[in-house]
Amino acid sequence: MALNARLDHRNPLVFDTHELGRRPGALQRLTREIDAPKDLGLQGVIGVPEGAPVKLDLRLESVMEGVLVTGTAHALAKGECVRCLEPVEQQLETDFQEMFSYPDADDRGRVKAEPADDAEDDEDTLFIEDGLFDLEPVLRDAVVLALPMQPVCQDDCPGLCSQCGARLADDPDHHHDAVDIRWAALQGLAGSLEDGEKDELGGGAIPSAPVDEKQEK
Ligand SMILES: [Zn+2]
Ligand SMILES: [Zn+2]
Repeated sequence: MALNARLDHRNPLVFDTHELGRRPGALQRLTREIDAPKDLGLQGVIGVPEGAPVKLDLRLESVMEGVLVTGTAHALAKGECVRCLEPVEQQLETDFQEMFSYPDADDRGRVKAEPADDAEDDEDTLFIEDGLFDLEPVLRDAVVLALPMQPVCQDDCPGLCSQCGARLADDPDHHHDAVDIRWAALQGLAGSLEDGEKDELGGGAIPSAPVDEKQEK
């Protein structure tokens, strides 16, 4: 935990606990709408676009060793379907709860945890610094947990045709079979015959051009 990186009260994800105070039991509810920070979500999969509105409803509760923050974040996440690559939007409403501790909490008679638990907890402990706390890591974790790892445009999205790449949901009867392949071959043959006729009619196609020049000289 980088205690030396001072929090900036102008950062929209930094909250001030001075009004709440340190009297255990004190409560404060607040709502704040912020612009989504960069890379909020699962990178390259689905996330809240940078600058998109994120509405935060928070409940701050003063407890002996810090401030217990309970809240909900509302936002619209955007990504693409992993099967058919169509854009996917998902309305997010994700709950979170996090304890922000006073750096001096240990001196204020916190119940001593078992040594093993304590060592584990310390790595994830978030602190209040100069009466401020930074909600950003909590918001990031909550948003990632609320998002699907494999977003789909619809639960039964059939994906793309493996042969031509068409989106199968748009064309449920889409299929390729042996007849189609032979027909395609015939169409290809017909196409090349047409091209040949055009060349003979003096269409100026490159392969016949040198021949014409020799005949003229
Ligand atoms: Zn899809
Ligand atoms: Zn196809």
